[in-house]
Parts: sequence; C-alpha cells; structure tokens
Amino acid sequence: MELDINAYRRLIAIGSALSEEKDINDLLAQILREAKIMASADAGCLYLRTELDTLEVAAVVNETLHDTLNSFKSDNEGLFPVLLLHRRDGSPNLENAASRSVHQAKTIYLDEVGSAPLDIAQSVLTVPLTSQSERPMGVLQLLKARTSNHQAVGFPPEVVPFIESLASLATMALQNRRLLDQQVVLKTQLENQVDERTEELRLTLEKLSEANVILKDLNTIDAVTRIKNRRYFDDIAVQEWRRAVRQQYPMTLMLLDIDHFKWVNDNLGHLAGDACLHSVAECIDELFNRPSDVVARYGGDEFIVIMPYIRHDNATIYAERVRDAVANRKLVVDGQVVKVTISIGVASGMPNETITDIRQLIARADEALYEAKADGRNRIVGIDINTSLKLDA
Ligand code: GH3
Ligand code: MG
Repeated sequence: MELDINAYRRLIAIGSALSEEKDINDLLAQILREAKIMASADAGCLYLRTELDTLEVAAVVNETLHDTLNSFKSDNEGLFPVLLLHRRDGSPNLENAASRSVHQAKTIYLDEVGSAPLDIAQSVLTVPLTSQSERPMGVLQLLKARTSNHQAVGFPPEVVPFIESLASLATMALQNRRLLDQQVVLKTQLENQVDERTEELRLTLEKLSEANVILKDLNTIDAVTRIKNRRYFDDIAVQEWRRAVRQQYPMTLMLLDIDHFKWVNDNLGHLAGDACLHSVAECIDELFNRPSDVVARYGGDEFIVIMPYIRHDNATIYAERVRDAVANRKLVVDGQVVKVTISIGVASGMPNETITDIRQLIARADEALYEAKADGRNRIVGIDINTSLKLDA
C-alpha cells in the first residue's frame, strides 16, 4: 500500500513536470529514473522507434546494476543494443521483448530470462510507449538482475500499472514535443511565406510607383514640344495662385504666340511646323530656370509661362529676353533655315480683392498678346494688373 501512495505522488509530480520541462531528453530520463525506483529495478532503458525501423536508446539508468552484481561491468550497449524492428525478409522481429512489445503494443512481463545479453537479468519488464492514435513510439524496459547467489527477485505484478502510466507520460511528452517541433516548423514556414509575400508586395508597389511616376510624366508632357502640357499648367497655376494669395507675393504670367505660324505649316509642311514648335518651346524653356517657373504649351502655337514672385518691371525684361532669343534662333528644316518670331502678352501683379482668380491674370495676358499682334507682332505688351499700367516694347 505504501508503494501505491508514493507511486501516485511520483506520477503526479512527473505529470506536472511534463508541462514545465522543456528538454525532452531530461524529461525522458526523469521518467525512466522514476520507473526504475518504483519497480526497484537494477537498470532501465527507454527505446525510441527511429525512421530507420530500429529501436534506439534514448535514455538509460544503470547505476545500481554494478552494485547488485559485483561481477557485472556496466555496459549499456551490451545491455541495451540497437534493435531491428523487422527482419531482412520484412517480417516483424519478435525475437526480443522490446521489438515484440512494439509490434504487439502490449506490456511483456518476463521472469527467468536466460538469453544473452540479458543472461544477467532474472526479470525483464517491457512496456510499450503507446498512444491511441498511432503505433507505439518505443518501449520502456526495466531489468532486475539475479542476486549474486542466484536468488530470484521478480517484479511485483502490482507495479506494472504504474510503469504503464509512466510509459504513457513518456508518450505524451514525446507527442507534445513533436507537436511543438511541428509548430516551430510551421511558424517558420509561415514567417518565411509572409516575408516573401511582403517582399513581393514591396517590389510590386515600387514598380507601381515607378510606373506611376512615368505615367504622371507622360500625362503632363506635351508630345510635340516635350514641355509641360496644358493640363499640367491648369493644375499648377491654380496652386501657385492660391499660394501667392496666401503669402501675398506678386505673380507674372506670359502668353507667347508664334507669329504667322500658319505660313510655316503651309509652306514647309506640318512636320516642319512640328519641328518649329519644338524648337521654339525649347528656346523658351531654356530661359526659365527657377524651380518655381513653369513653361507649358497652352495650345496650337501658343505657350504660357507662370513666374511666381516676379513683379511687372522685371517681367517685361524676362519677356524681352525670350522674344529676342526666339527671333535669333535658327531652325534648319530640310536644309532650309527657318526663322520665326513671337509676340508676348505679359500680365503681372499682386493678388488683391479685385484680382481673385488666376483666370483674370490669363485673360489680361491674352488681351496684351492681342495688342502685341495688332501692333505688328514680334513685340511685347505688358500690363500691371494692379495699376493697369501698360508697357509696350
Ligand atoms: P498669328 O501671327 O496671328 O499668330 O498668325 P498664325 O499664323 O500663327 O495664326 P494662329 O496662331 O492662329 O495659327 C496657329 C496654327 O498652328 C494653326 C494650326 O494649324 C497650327 N497648329 C496648331 N497645332 C499644331 C501642331 O501641333 N503642329 C503643327 N505643325 N501645327 C499646329
Ligand atoms: Mg500664331
């Protein structure tokens, strides 16, 4: 009865250790030690089934065998050799208790064992590590040696259920370990997959944003002149005007139109006309280098320039430079030198209560351009929208 109480206590202690012990080998060794103590065995071994169809030793306790048998030298390998679960012809190996216990999934209780290398043992108790769902994972084997005067000391039968319980605990520990290992593998796989997908997503987003930049550029560039197009200008002009209103600084707007451009088209052809538009656009664009300046094709042979911070007196100086540069530029088409001039309407001023919209500035620049054309072309008309002062050049 005393054995029962202590044995139960130990079983409970091992059960709770099972959930805390992280090292499976330590846990198996602990279970085996307990089994040896409970059964008063001389040696014990935990065999685990391997993928090579063998039973291999995972833990051994064998300190007392030497004391029990003065003559015996503890040799674990001799005592617990690696065992084959099947014979060469594929049939189950039932020659030894451990292998038999695995195949039959039952406890084998033997007394008076005589065959080598167990000829030192008088009793062998072999308990399979069984689980309901799968074949045995191994066996727990205990040996009791003959005494030195060859007296028989067998395992008491009542100890068997306790050893079977310990074997169940070992099975649970192994299953837990396996699940944890699987969990780690799955977690790593999942993490790797997430990393891969994240990288793919990042690359896709990168490509998308590059494509977006290219697309945006394509959407804002005029195909004939390679400068900004009307759509871009319309967007930016509103923003620039709002900023000028907020921060109260002057703004200049120029409308530039090629003089007698129809003549180029009519006499040199449409392609020459395109080349001419491109050349004039380039010439204008080169003269405006500040990041805040915007040069765009406004439509047909008309260009527009917006210059934040530039007051009227300075604006006409810039306009004159552009007019002069275009007038002196030579474009060679089919070996023929083409020269064109432009007329420019300039409107400048500070945003105030009466000038509330960029369209008002554009309209005034358009009026000025009309006047420049009417005055004979290749000239500038500027309007200061705050004073309505006009300047012709
Ligand atoms: P003005 O001095 O009064 O400006 O006379 P103009 O001949 O330049 O007259 P207008 O500005 O009205 O003519 C613009 C011409 O530009 C008419 C149109 O056929 C031509 N044009 C518009 N877009 C293009 C284009 O993309 N390529 C070419 N080659 N010609 C264009
Ligand atoms: Mg024109």
